[in-house]
Amino acid sequence: MSVSPDRDAALAPYACHESQSRGRQHREPPPAGHRGEYQRDRDRIVHSSAFRRLVYKTQVFVNHEGDLYRTRLTHSLEVAQIARSVCGALQLNEALCEAICLAHDLGHTPFGHAGQDALNECMREYGGFEHNLQSLRVVDELEERYAEFSGLNLTFECREGILKHCSAKNAAELGELGRRFLERRQPSLEAQLANVADAIAYNNHDVDDGLRAGLVTTRELGGVALFARHHAEVERLYPGLGERRQIHEVVRRMINQVVNDLIQTTRGRIAVAAPIDVEAVRAADGPLVAFSERIAAEHRELKRFLHERVYRHFRVVRMTTKAQRVVRELFRAYFDDPRLLPDEHREVATRLEAGAGLAGRGRAVADYIAGMTDRYAILEHARLYDPSVPQG
Ligand code: MG
Repeated sequence: MSVSPDRDAALAPYACHESQSRGRQHREPPPAGHRGEYQRDRDRIVHSSAFRRLVYKTQVFVNHEGDLYRTRLTHSLEVAQIARSVCGALQLNEALCEAICLAHDLGHTPFGHAGQDALNECMREYGGFEHNLQSLRVVDELEERYAEFSGLNLTFECREGILKHCSAKNAAELGELGRRFLERRQPSLEAQLANVADAIAYNNHDVDDGLRAGLVTTRELGGVALFARHHAEVERLYPGLGERRQIHEVVRRMINQVVNDLIQTTRGRIAVAAPIDVEAVRAADGPLVAFSERIAAEHRELKRFLHERVYRHFRVVRMTTKAQRVVRELFRAYFDDPRLLPDEHREVATRLEAGAGLAGRGRAVADYIAGMTDRYAILEHARLYDPSVPQG
């Protein structure tokens, strides 16, 4: 790959260096001088159609429920933002980490986790469906933008970061990329960081969205240590502050504290493990990017609260149940009669079925549904099942 001494020189020895990259699956000439290989990865992700569709995909609240809630797109941007600031503090490769963060949810179905669970259920006999693996499938195969290859042909390091978890069965089929799951090795620090930044982003923005939606109150959140501490501080510093500003002050202090803790703790772990390069990071006993025990426990407490009080709130469940029905019925219609698929997807279904039988047909249908935005899935469902809806 192209070697840029300048870009690598600013990095810590244990960061991902372009000069040590394992490269791309399809050989390509190096990018023009102003751009590095990982910047090229990031730019390809931003220009992909899967990335643009994230704007109309649910994070927790279904897209049409309100304009102020997070979507998959704004979530991905927040993850990247948090991760980039930590990269700077630890001298990690910011361009690579940003690329991983922006791509981490590309494989998400419409309607968030509810959609993924429904699609996994539909695909049970045909190899299952897992959004994280699907993100990799999007960048490796499904994007159609380049003359010489399918997918985005990203670097190994970017693909390594996108694949956060993987079953042994799937890992065995993924060759070099899957090997670490079988050998219990770690991914790069940039990959580890993207993973933790994801959790920081959703834990905090779901507090904000949950309050905005009226699913929880600041009083109930008072039982959560991380929130309670900062809420008390904001009340002390700014008595009588309006509720919206108060919530933002609390959330930004929560993020600040966990990010600072993450930087300090990770620095300490790196100092102890003293990895000489990224290969030493991969060979370490466990992840080096981590919170202190206290903050890890508080973060888990917050996550538990959100699971019980927000994600399982009847208003969220009511919407997600509807969404699961939409996904199941879309799958059923296309799978039972592939003639209902648009031409290009029907052709893919025919091709995959010729190679892998009904599992191939299922995969083509799952790829099509996973690529849908919330609103497209709802419209398509109505076109299939409601005779009064005009056929567009
Ligand atoms: Mg995410």
